[in-house]
Amino acid sequence: MKIRKGTGQRAIVLALALSIPPLFAACPKNEPPAPPRARVATTNRSDERLPPIPTAFNGERAMDHARKQIEFGPRPPASPQLEKTRVYIVDQLKSYGLQVSLDEFTVATPQGEKKMANIVAELPGETKDLILITSHYDTKFFKDMHFVGANDPAASVGTLMEIGRVLGSMKEKPKVTYRLVFFDGEEAFCENWDDCSKPDNPDNTYGSRHYARQLDTKNELNSTRALILLDMMGYKDLELGRDTMSTRWLQDIIWQTGRDLGYRKIFVDRDEGVGGDDHEAFVNLGVPSVDLIQLSSYPYWHKADDTIDKISAQSMKIVGETVLASLPKIAAHDRLKEIKNPQ
Ligand SMILES: [Zn+2]
Repeated sequence: MKIRKGTGQRAIVLALALSIPPLFAACPKNEPPAPPRARVATTNRSDERLPPIPTAFNGERAMDHARKQIEFGPRPPASPQLEKTRVYIVDQLKSYGLQVSLDEFTVATPQGEKKMANIVAELPGETKDLILITSHYDTKFFKDMHFVGANDPAASVGTLMEIGRVLGSMKEKPKVTYRLVFFDGEEAFCENWDDCSKPDNPDNTYGSRHYARQLDTKNELNSTRALILLDMMGYKDLELGRDTMSTRWLQDIIWQTGRDLGYRKIFVDRDEGVGGDDHEAFVNLGVPSVDLIQLSSYPYWHKADDTIDKISAQSMKIVGETVLASLPKIAAHDRLKEIKNPQ
């Protein structure tokens, strides 16, 4: 599944340097975040009549959340370190004014029964129609390796938390309900994804499969308009290909939005074959879903040197800003059209 890619990274760094202004220089973490901007990285200042895009995402704050998780150490399911991480995430989300709850469950794993908990944070909208924004927050268990998972998943968790802060600070009630879900138990307990998987009993994605069943049980599937999954999107040499399992119209909205914000070199058209992730259970239930993931060109995947020096506030900002700017477009997307003309 892992294919190394040795070229292009310098070009990306150069493109970043040329096209993206040094936003956090004006936005240090101990000062209030900059006011929302209508557009980023454009020279056209005549767009003030456009509805504001919520781009007050602060990359340094997301980086702080990533650092905090890494300081807790390796964070596999049911570990004291993951419990500390959970308390930290919950406390932060509550402080943003979101409604926070735990979705607790016990599952049989190759290491015996494990207690797990998804973290759910909601911002109610005018309707009960849902957009889910998600990341896993456990790190992969390694018996003989100190694995702290900076990009997998501290960066996506930090980004999702900062998205939660921005959403919680919105003055107006959103049209749809936004729900952040932090999945437990995404990583396999056995060394490889499929080593211990049985046909109806995979050794991975425990939390997302449990949560997808909950949506079904609570009759929320029909009102779930979309799911956005963040996973390994904080690499300092960020380049996001198109995950082949994702729903095309949803992916297109996010890719176009990223490009409109000036991130053309980040949101590229090459295929990213992931072979399953937390969105899979939702795809199988008919929920439009997209995975923002850089797997094939991230050389530190499941290695001891997936450490904080590999991720950047800038990459988290690029993804966070793009997701936030995409949300109103996703909410406005005409579902009937897709049913008539499925892509
Ligand atoms: Zn992983």
